[in-house]
Amino acid sequence: MTEETTTTIMAALATLTQSQLSDLTASISSDVHLHRRRLSAVLSSPHLFSLTLQRLRLLSLPDKTLLIAKHLLSSLHHLTLHYNKCHSAVLKPRDLDAVLVLLLLCDVRQHSPEALETPPFRWREVLGSVYARGMLSTAGYGIGSAAALLPYIETAARCLRFVGNYNVNSNSTVVGRETAATVAAVVALPSVGGGGGEECVICREEMREGRDVCGLPCQHKFHWRCVLPWLRRRNTCPCCRFRLPTDDVFGEIQRLWDIVVKMSGVGKELIS
Ligand SMILES: [Zn+2]
Ligand SMILES: [Zn+2]
Repeated sequence: MTEETTTTIMAALATLTQSQLSDLTASISSDVHLHRRRLSAVLSSPHLFSLTLQRLRLLSLPDKTLLIAKHLLSSLHHLTLHYNKCHSAVLKPRDLDAVLVLLLLCDVRQHSPEALETPPFRWREVLGSVYARGMLSTAGYGIGSAAALLPYIETAARCLRFVGNYNVNSNSTVVGRETAATVAAVVALPSVGGGGGEECVICREEMREGRDVCGLPCQHKFHWRCVLPWLRRRNTCPCCRFRLPTDDVFGEIQRLWDIVVKMSGVGKELIS
């Protein structure tokens, strides 16, 4: 378990108000119910299980990582709900089944690797019993109770580590790579008054009063003509690296994680 990641998530949670916390537990509970329903369906049907396993076999490691990343992204969305206005895409049922079985497999491999030495046709049985044991140990968590957050924190931290490790190990640095800001985010940027002779750091020319100046949410200002080409290549502010939303899953994880880190550091002086 990555201590630091868990601590950061816990600290971010501690800054939430009572009503924000109940919104969070409500969305987590509804996810938990959905995931349980899907996993039970897959594990109780030999046909569905072998289809899901087959699908996982066909996925390359980067594809699997991407799937886990999308799954993680939706959990981070819950956590940053009140500081982030963008909605995450929902996984297709087949993808959700695949990622849930994949995470369960990872779990089993980590805690009892010998269980997977049985031939794959017995895996459904093996996973089924591990899953049932897990359900028993969490059965005491009432819906909406704070204890229900623990498995959530664990999953989020584990996925984050998985995605992070993958990105460090691979040669293409996926997290931190340059990726365009979403069109929707760029269109929503406001025109602001020029900063009384302030310099635009992209072109080093003065910004005059008028409508040709764009304000990013971090309060930094640039000429529209300078910042638009910039945001077509990167989703970060040229001054402070504040992140705008992006369609890239890993870029989004990085952006939401930045928000979680800021939440954990200071509850008050937040992010607009
Ligand atoms: Zn400029
Ligand atoms: Zn900035």
